[in-house]
Amino acid sequence: SGRPRRPAAVRALRRPGIAYDDIPATLAAGAVEPGDPGYRSVRSTYLRGGNPGLVLRPRTPAEVSDAIGFARRHTDLPLGIRSGGHGVSGRSTNDGGIVIDLSAMNRIEVIDPARRLVRIGPGATWKQVAAALDAYGWAIGSGDYGGVGVGGLATAGGIGFLSREHGLTIDHLIAVEMVLADGSLVRATATENPDLFWGVRGAGANFGVVTAFELQAHEVAEVGSAQLMLVVPDLEEALLRFGEIATSAPRDTTVFLVTGPPQPGGSVIQLYGLVDSSDPETIIERLNPFAGLGSLVQQQVVLARYTDVMNQAPDVGSDGHHGHGEPHSHSGLIAALTPEFARDAAAMLRTGGVQFFQLRTMGGAIAEIDRGETAFPHREAAFQVTGLGGNRRALDAAWDGLRNHLDGLYLSFETDTDPGRLADAFGDRALDRLREIKRRYDPQNLFRDNFNIAPHFNSNNDPAEEA
Ligand SMILES: Cc1cc2nc3c(=O)[nH]c(=O)nc-3n(C[C@H](O)[C@H](O)[C@H](O)COP(=O)(O)OP(=O)(O)OC[C@H]3O[C@@H](n4cnc5c(N)ncnc54)[C@H](O)[C@@H]3O)c2cc1C
Repeated sequence: SGRPRRPAAVRALRRPGIAYDDIPATLAAGAVEPGDPGYRSVRSTYLRGGNPGLVLRPRTPAEVSDAIGFARRHTDLPLGIRSGGHGVSGRSTNDGGIVIDLSAMNRIEVIDPARRLVRIGPGATWKQVAAALDAYGWAIGSGDYGGVGVGGLATAGGIGFLSREHGLTIDHLIAVEMVLADGSLVRATATENPDLFWGVRGAGANFGVVTAFELQAHEVAEVGSAQLMLVVPDLEEALLRFGEIATSAPRDTTVFLVTGPPQPGGSVIQLYGLVDSSDPETIIERLNPFAGLGSLVQQQVVLARYTDVMNQAPDVGSDGHHGHGEPHSHSGLIAALTPEFARDAAAMLRTGGVQFFQLRTMGGAIAEIDRGETAFPHREAAFQVTGLGGNRRALDAAWDGLRNHLDGLYLSFETDTDPGRLADAFGDRALDRLREIKRRYDPQNLFRDNFNIAPHFNSNNDPAEEA
């Protein structure tokens, strides 16, 4: 393939089953294997440690197609698709398999200023997107963390600071271009390959590698950016009141809550979010009810540009991500923050099994999109609930106390790979349709590193061994 021959010491670290000598010529120069000097910077992701046998780094859709062709010859090995490397459900690294790393495909380009249409490569991060759009006075809502990649988030949902006002990130999508399992390049829009376009908006990881996203931005001027830390004597009461305040706030205001196990003397809760207003009085008025939830121990409220909000995430250095081990995280959606939920959530936190507990406020524009319009069906949810824990068993046991309140989940914050979670994520109707699309576009199940919708199921509702 024209690859420089590796010294014996490097070759000794190669993993079995990979045809290193047959790496396509177009990918040879950028390919990284375990003994290479650059391996350290590409092996792991933000949350996971990894030991892939080969990392391919395409720069164009044609090279992505070459990489997929190579992966098709190695279907017995794990395959990870990596954009920004912040996957939680998405296993964008692995042990002994192949990773297709799209970080070089990070171009951000305004394609229609009048309609505010922007074309973005999967490898861009949301802080790069925010910085590029700042000059136009525009923004595309993503999440709460600018380090996250475009590829993983824009194929799953995108619940963030502007979602109540403008919808999920997938609701901004006008078109995607992708490379399918057979290596072909396709474009999907509402009228061109509409089934694929529907499925990509919520379950995109299953159907191919998106090489470009076209999204419509919104005009966003200066915003109020808020971080409040409070101590509350009674967590149950505070959660309940937070639920009332966060859901009754105008759509310009989105506040998320993070807490952990209670401390002696009370619980520490962090509230952080955004008020889409440039008027200091409006910002204070919107935030006052939140500040009243407990004793304020720390606060920062500033008038900022959206790019400054996204920029709070530090840059990933040239030596890459350094995640290690495996994260354990569960997601659930709730239609309303009821007194029973607040009680059971507080009890769950007292067990210590959940170290990081988060409530993301939804509603507003998210709920205005029809349930069947995208593969993210849970339009009526009021909150997305996340629980993270260091010990999987303790986390699962604690989370069981919440299950009867949950109605669906958001796949991006769920690490459970039980096929039963698929119905929670998509609902039975959408799941049937997704499976049909999967059979059409990826019958061999090449793309399976993230909430895998297996093309064929046996009678136990487990992925069939062999089609
Ligand atoms: C610190 C942190 C904060 C977060 N905040 C938010 C938030 O506010 N809102 C929210 O909605 N989510 C949030 N998430 C979840 C995040 O959206 C997902 O983890 C997402 O998958 C990360 O995208 P990535 O490109 O960085 O990840 P990667 O690890 O690169 O990819 C994750 C998975 O996405 C799929 N994928 C990646 N690129 C492509 C592509 N080009 N085509 C097809 N499939 C692809 C693959 O299956 C891959 O395994 C957060 C995650 C973290 C770690």
